[in-house]
Amino acid sequence: MTGGAPRVEDAGELAGVPDEFQRLWTPHRMAYIQAGPEPLKHDCPFCAAPDKSDEDGLIVARGETAYVLLNLFPYNSGHLLVCPYRHFGTYDEATPEEVAEIGALTQVAMRVLRRVANCDGFNLGMNQGAVAGAGVAEHLHQHVVPRWATDANFFPIIAKTKALPQLLGDVRTAVQEGWPVL
Ligand SMILES: [Zn+2]
Repeated sequence: MTGGAPRVEDAGELAGVPDEFQRLWTPHRMAYIQAGPEPLKHDCPFCAAPDKSDEDGLIVARGETAYVLLNLFPYNSGHLLVCPYRHFGTYDEATPEEVAEIGALTQVAMRVLRRVANCDGFNLGMNQGAVAGAGVAEHLHQHVVPRWATDANFFPIIAKTKALPQLLGDVRTAVQEGWPVL
């Protein structure tokens, strides 16, 4: 590595699911990456996130057996993940209570994103196993990806020139504020 070259991010240390897509990161984003992740208490980002504040963990809602957070590696702005608190890898290992709450939180996430983000559709899904594309294969997570007819990358309510870390924070706040009080 030459002097001044940005350090390569170890995606496995961060909450969210890495993928093969390229993204146009801003210089702010590089500064964010160079700062590095906080020291880990957990090896698993989805076990670690609930111990953080909502802001630091990018969490928008907490249920009894499962919670909802923003993907740090979004396919689209507003890309949410619904995760059980319990650490297990595949859907067939979930208890009936976890299945029910993951489903219910997914439904609420869709309604909130439709209202807050004005999206036109969704991709929902779980990648089961690394061979199937799961970035964090050992901890189940359901993707909720909003889609727009134009596939605009930003919430209409948010200025398009903001750096991505700021944008993630703004998106988290918008989704959390739109989440119904249970
Ligand atoms: Zn875990």
